[in-house]
Amino acid sequence: MSHTPYPSSFYAATANAAPLRHALSSNVETDVCVIGAGYTGLSTALFLLEHGFRVVVLEAAKVGFGASGRNGGQIVNSYSRDLDTVERSAGSDAARLIGAMAFEGGQIIRERVKQYDINCDLKNGGVFAAMNSKQMRHLEAQKILWERYGYRQLQMLDQSDIRDVVACERYIGGMLDQGGGHIHPLNLALGEAAAVESLGGIIYEQSPAIRIDRGANPRVHTKHGEVRAKFVVVAGNAYLGNLVPELAAKSMPCGTQVVATEPLTAELAAALLPQDYCVEDCNYLLDYFRLSADKRLIYGGGVVYGARDPADIESIIRPKMLKTFPQLCDIKIDFAWTGNFLMTLSRLPQVGRLDGNLYYSQGCSGHGVTYTHIAGKVIAEALRGQAERFDAFAGLPHYPFPGGQRFSAPLSALGALYYSLRDRIGF
Ligand SMILES: Cc1cc2nc3c(=O)[nH]c(=O)nc-3n(C[C@H](O)[C@H](O)[C@H](O)COP(=O)(O)OP(=O)(O)OC[C@H]3O[C@@H](n4cnc5c(N)ncnc54)[C@H](O)[C@@H]3O)c2cc1C
Repeated sequence: MSHTPYPSSFYAATANAAPLRHALSSNVETDVCVIGAGYTGLSTALFLLEHGFRVVVLEAAKVGFGASGRNGGQIVNSYSRDLDTVERSAGSDAARLIGAMAFEGGQIIRERVKQYDINCDLKNGGVFAAMNSKQMRHLEAQKILWERYGYRQLQMLDQSDIRDVVACERYIGGMLDQGGGHIHPLNLALGEAAAVESLGGIIYEQSPAIRIDRGANPRVHTKHGEVRAKFVVVAGNAYLGNLVPELAAKSMPCGTQVVATEPLTAELAAALLPQDYCVEDCNYLLDYFRLSADKRLIYGGGVVYGARDPADIESIIRPKMLKTFPQLCDIKIDFAWTGNFLMTLSRLPQVGRLDGNLYYSQGCSGHGVTYTHIAGKVIAEALRGQAERFDAFAGLPHYPFPGGQRFSAPLSALGALYYSLRDRIGF
């Protein structure tokens, strides 16, 4: 049987030990079959197991193989489009519910880490950095907006404050979110998988779902086995392909790249990011960075529409990193990798149910570490018969990409070009 390993990355090189997980090779029966062992699938499985469901997870490669094991590790509250967009897109009751959930994902992660003793280098504090006065005004409005939903962990940073948290001359100010933070993302996924198994859940790795017989008694087929379940949860996100054609039609996989430097000296690390917060800038095509536990700078940015893997990642990311931190010109890059996230046209997540018993959540469009943990909770609530919060998300409009998948990449690239021009000119 073919075996897909983790792609080479700093996270794969520093992953905590995990058990050997077998591929599915027989026919099994369960309450819920979850497809995909990223945060969406694992969070769903964990919430279901905690409420007495039997759960089987099918993972095409390995736990955290997708974006969940490759991301920037930044715990960012709210969604890829902020709550003002949600307010315009959803009815007022749904917007109220979605708004109230916007700060729950970070809490769920922290509870999981504590309850299941997950070793994933969790640190508190995230900074949004502004490069111009328009971005600063946007952050001020964001603070007012989030505070309207009762969130009180934000602090505006002026030019001198931001120099105390990040040694970059390009920022004119920013906003600190004490409820943000960072983690080793693959180790979070591995810890959540161990928690799933500690509650009796079964995870099959190297077991791509290749067909779903949909209907009253769904069956999920892999090459050498099948899962019969009352419910199916589709959590394959950007790696799902065409397994569920309705989902592929309204989303687009995009790649983004990350590098990890060699370990910095303690002095240099403390000079760059004295409080050890993570940082993302306010550009549409944003850069994001933080320190690892062993004091490497982990720096990401850029988007490849259509998720083709770029040949030379370092040549894309290193110039961005040096623009932010010219003082790193002599520092080596030890690891460079790419990963796919799933873009939707609205940049809001797509949540829903097909055929009454096939549930899905996908497309958090870049910021998904917190949202995916919320998604697992609301899907589990819906399966338990409490669908109010699930329905609030499900009511957000979904749009097909104009011209279908063939044209979606060039169209979005045009959009990105427009936004990158806006970022550069600052209007
Ligand atoms: C490089 C990068 C950096 C990012 N940085 C950040 C960040 O710093 N902060 C943030 O908030 N968000 C970030 N994101 C986004 C975030 O990582 C994702 O939104 C989130 O991890 C998505 O989780 P998921 O479980 O939905 O999907 P994934 O983690 O991609 O998991 C999907 C899983 O499903 C499996 N799968 C797919 N098809 C099948 C099938 N047919 N059968 C079985 N299994 C299948 C895949 O193998 C995969 O393991 C980043 C994304 C990338 C790619």
